Amino acid sequence: MDLHLDLHSHSGYAGGVGKTSFDDVERNMPLKGIHVVGTGDCLYPAWLNKLRDTLQEEHTGLFSYAEGSPVSYVLQTEIILTADIGPRRKGVHTVLLFPSFDAVDKAVLQLEAWGMKNTVGRPFLCCKDKFDVSKKIETLLDIDDFIEVVPAHVMTPEGVFGSKAPIDSLQDFYGESAERISIIETGLSADPQVLSLIPEFDRMSLISNSDAHSPALNRMGREFTSVSTRKDYPSILSALRKNHILGTAEFNPVEGRYFLTGHRGGRKGHEGHYCIFSPKNTPPDAKCPICGKQLTIGVIERALQLSAIQGEGRDPDDVKPKKPFVHMVPLTEIIAYSLGIISVSSKKVYNNYIKITSIIDECDLWFESQNAIRRKLSGIVDDKLLENILSVKRGEFCFYPAGYDGEYGTLRIGTTMDYEDVHIIK
Ligand SMILES: [Zn+2]
Ligand SMILES: [Zn+2]
Repeated sequence: MDLHLDLHSHSGYAGGVGKTSFDDVERNMPLKGIHVVGTGDCLYPAWLNKLRDTLQEEHTGLFSYAEGSPVSYVLQTEIILTADIGPRRKGVHTVLLFPSFDAVDKAVLQLEAWGMKNTVGRPFLCCKDKFDVSKKIETLLDIDDFIEVVPAHVMTPEGVFGSKAPIDSLQDFYGESAERISIIETGLSADPQVLSLIPEFDRMSLISNSDAHSPALNRMGREFTSVSTRKDYPSILSALRKNHILGTAEFNPVEGRYFLTGHRGGRKGHEGHYCIFSPKNTPPDAKCPICGKQLTIGVIERALQLSAIQGEGRDPDDVKPKKPFVHMVPLTEIIAYSLGIISVSSKKVYNNYIKITSIIDECDLWFESQNAIRRKLSGIVDDKLLENILSVKRGEFCFYPAGYDGEYGTLRIGTTMDYEDVHIIK
């Protein structure tokens, strides 16, 4: 069966906004059309106990909160691994997936023996260097054939290829264990098009998850991966490992907070002035023309650097991802935009959301044809809202200015933007 997966989320114990309650997840995920979600934070004692007390194993490795619910849970956490890379210390967010509570318990024992800091939902594990990272990852993977290690949101500053303490290959951080990594999470700041620039990912499966810290309709399931397989954990993981992926739904990475290179106005010495550069316009020394410090190198520039370091240097217009993907915007945000409402959590937005998702769930909205959507929603929702949904499906939307140095781009529907010539100093 076709399954929509969101295998990276967080409980209320990971900090950030919102608390995740099962009741909220159970109410919202059927509207979204997400079938399988990650529990988040499954190494954290209080949350692990709650999961153990609350969930029932309904299909091998997939757990249910309520009998007969369409939503299944995978035991999942994100962990921050740190290690010395040359003179610098690098922290890399990494998703772990587990097939059973037994595998989680064994991993917890091992991680605690290594001194894991487990005082928040997303724990830390200090490693000495890449050899130590490798030894620890291999030991975890050897606990169970169906434990999976997935580098998270690989291009953000906290991702393995982020601009903080930059490295040139997965081996530079994960050591020899990199060979056992076969799944990469694109994250909100990158998509398969951007990651296809990087030769090392050619043999990998690219998956997309929400990394949500709340079950809000514009958070959980905001990015997802579709597979066609049996509904049990071993089948799902095998499909992902073999890249038997139907497609992914992705944010347009231009919106991501780190897409272009620059410095935001709130930085010291900036007094509200900011600068943004596309790769070809970044100053040769990569220094900020306003404060003189090193610029935050954007995702697209890092991907091009890695493309040149690892291979011949690929052209963004020439690369072709192996699996289909769609760029989307959370439906509640399109509704709020169309109605001129600022809050995505307003009653009016919710009512329109329910009107649409009672006809078609949000995941299917992004994969159905435009004609089918027009047929299904004509006369049901406001014309402007329908046209905006169709515009997003056609890719006619952009973020202006593009995201950079921690700032999100602002959504504009009905127009596109070429970011190649961006050179802004204001
Ligand atoms: Zn993370
Ligand atoms: Zn600056």
